[in-house]
Amino acid sequence: MKDTFAPEHQHFRDEIRRFLDSALDEELLEAQRNCPGIFLDYEHNIRWHRILHRKGWIAPSWPKEYGGTGWDLTQRYLWSRETTLAGAPSLAPMGLGMCGPMLIGHGSSEQKDYYLPRILSGEDYWCQGYSEPASGSDLASLKLNARLQGDHYILNGSKIWTTHAHVANRMFCLVRSDDSGKPQQGITFLLLDMDSPGITVDPIVFASGTHEVNQVFFDDVKVPAANRVGKHNEGWSVAKYLLEFERGGGGSAAQQSALDRIRRLASSIRVEGGSLLDSTDFKTRLDRTSIELEAVAQTELRIMAALSRGQNPGPESSIMKNLGANLGQQITELALEAVGMHALPYQPWTPGDNVEPLGPDGSATAFPRYFNLRASSIAGGTNEVQKNIVAKLVLGL
Ligand SMILES: Cc1cc2nc3c(=O)[nH]c(=O)nc-3n(C[C@H](O)[C@H](O)[C@H](O)COP(=O)(O)OP(=O)(O)OC[C@H]3O[C@@H](n4cnc5c(N)ncnc54)[C@H](O)[C@@H]3O)c2cc1C
Repeated sequence: MKDTFAPEHQHFRDEIRRFLDSALDEELLEAQRNCPGIFLDYEHNIRWHRILHRKGWIAPSWPKEYGGTGWDLTQRYLWSRETTLAGAPSLAPMGLGMCGPMLIGHGSSEQKDYYLPRILSGEDYWCQGYSEPASGSDLASLKLNARLQGDHYILNGSKIWTTHAHVANRMFCLVRSDDSGKPQQGITFLLLDMDSPGITVDPIVFASGTHEVNQVFFDDVKVPAANRVGKHNEGWSVAKYLLEFERGGGGSAAQQSALDRIRRLASSIRVEGGSLLDSTDFKTRLDRTSIELEAVAQTELRIMAALSRGQNPGPESSIMKNLGANLGQQITELALEAVGMHALPYQPWTPGDNVEPLGPDGSATAFPRYFNLRASSIAGGTNEVQKNIVAKLVLGL
């Protein structure tokens, strides 16, 4: 790999390595290594975010005029690969990966001037208010009521599964402003402050024990009409545009790194007849997962190329979403199998047992990650719904 890059890209890669070497401390590395969930906790997330902002490297995928790095495709690939190999924290996508690109595409100049720098600096931390208790896949059926009264909307209802609503200070939100026509026609897109009077955030704790998502209640919450993105009742196209960014987010470098880790781990685990890596069944599944990962990396590169041309990811992002979700789940299954009984959450151990109490590397996170990654084929739109989109918009069926 090293020799295939042009000299200027090799220099750039070395510059990244030097920076990561000096900027990543043990606490940040440990937080990422031991992260049990889909997203890293807010504190470490925002610490790493601010370090990258100070360096000017916080938004590689944004256009340069809005604070992007202006890197070419190879530089962006190198960044993603090197940060993953170094074990750097993964950043929350709600601001940088969703709200920012949506505002760049659809926001007014006042909204861009105000919000984009705050996303870049980490001053604003966003959550996504799309899903409701009876509106997930059928998002257009959402009901959170928004009554336009003078120059404010008054919101009543609730949002659910809202990732990091308990730490976010802003939410981008879809509301029902008219229910007289087709469901898609009466939806408005709003930006709101999470400390607005009338908002209550209730935690939802996963089976794995982690707290990432919430239900958010709105009781006569006042939102200025100036916080609307796009026109009144015409938020649906903005909502769909944002979803392409949500579903087209990259992850293949992180998955490659996880797979490499499992391969190393498997080669160190003794089973009858050699190491776990010598087991035909395990190795076949590991190799098949590696091949599928190639397909994800290729799709990711195509999306990166589209973004670098100033385009949005397009409906192909749904292919990326499904491949990435399935692969993430397969990887957690392999990890669980590799660490075996050490993955048990409350592993009983007594002196004299022929087993080390802590188990091999990755034991502590294998179980919660396995559980948490079940959600990846649901969050951001289920696998079945992505297949419908691909059938209709990519294959034209
Ligand atoms: C961990 C996690 C984090 C999340 N974070 C957020 C967030 O931050 N913000 C947010 O707004 N939402 C969030 N969500 C919600 C997520 O977007 C929804 O869960 C998802 O869209 C599915 O909706 P639902 O849960 O209502 O399931 P349903 O829509 O009720 O689906 C139930 C089942 O029916 C299937 N189904 C439904 N319609 C069809 C169809 N037309 N064709 C074929 N099959 C179909 C689905 O595939 C699924 O298997 C999160 C969810 C999870 C699990």
